[in-house]
Amino acid sequence: MSKLIRGISKNARFWVIDSTELVSKAQEIHKMSPTALAAFGRLITAGSMMGTNLKGEDILTLRIDSNGPIKQMVVTASSKGEVKGYVANPVADMPLKSNGQPNVAEVIGQGTLRIIKDMGFRNSEPYVGVSNLQTSEIAEDIAYYFFTSEQTPTVIALGVSLNNDMTVKSAGGYMIQLLPGAEDSFIDKLENKIKGIRTITELLDGGMSPERIAKLLYEDMESENPNDLVEEYEVLEEIDSIYKCNCSREKFYKGIVTLGQEEINKILEEENKIEVECQFCGTKYKYGKEDFEENKVN
Ligand SMILES: [Zn+2]
Repeated sequence: MSKLIRGISKNARFWVIDSTELVSKAQEIHKMSPTALAAFGRLITAGSMMGTNLKGEDILTLRIDSNGPIKQMVVTASSKGEVKGYVANPVADMPLKSNGQPNVAEVIGQGTLRIIKDMGFRNSEPYVGVSNLQTSEIAEDIAYYFFTSEQTPTVIALGVSLNNDMTVKSAGGYMIQLLPGAEDSFIDKLENKIKGIRTITELLDGGMSPERIAKLLYEDMESENPNDLVEEYEVLEEIDSIYKCNCSREKFYKGIVTLGQEEINKILEEENKIEVECQFCGTKYKYGKEDFEENKVN
């Protein structure tokens, strides 16, 4: 489980997550190249923070379609901290950039970020927001989306660091959204702070918890007392964020049935079985002739 906290202060709302376990689980399932892992790890970390804005059974989807080798990434998140996702081309890779960072921008290329909010029974049409990728580094692209589509100034940092054997060393992120009418002095101090602190993975590698990182973000650098805060804040909720797929044998069965009896018979004749694999979690489901006898297919 990955620990996510969200909270509020006079001028902003904030989220901090240590998503190391979540991203490790995603890597176990999708077996990504180092660059794809960095890209997807950032997206799923963002998704788990953004999902906590949802209500009840709502589902949030973040989808990147692009012209780089990774082609497409999808992450869905629930309000309860459950996330899952898939990568169209998990083996897409790039040499490291000259500063030693994974070349996420190149593996993604140019494209669009879609944010889809499915509000279940309350609204049959899902909300869809689309924006063009700006840097293809993901954090800036999400900030741009929030600013242009939801008029919400947002600071977001996302990171994944790897061990020498290419396993996940740490992953995490923070997000700060200004509330309407936020004071200029707060914005100035926040901008200064973000410039002055280490990257999210450096903070996590240094042993900082999400709570400690939240405090770091609110510490007043101009004050002589290191315990002074720019403003008081409150942690509203602690959420265990997990990689969880809700697929089932029945769900896939219903999907296959929509192919129609004729098509089903054809596949069964050719292959003697119908096998499907969930692209979110890798679970394989196998169906035989007996599953599609006339009285079972309606
Ligand atoms: Zn699944």
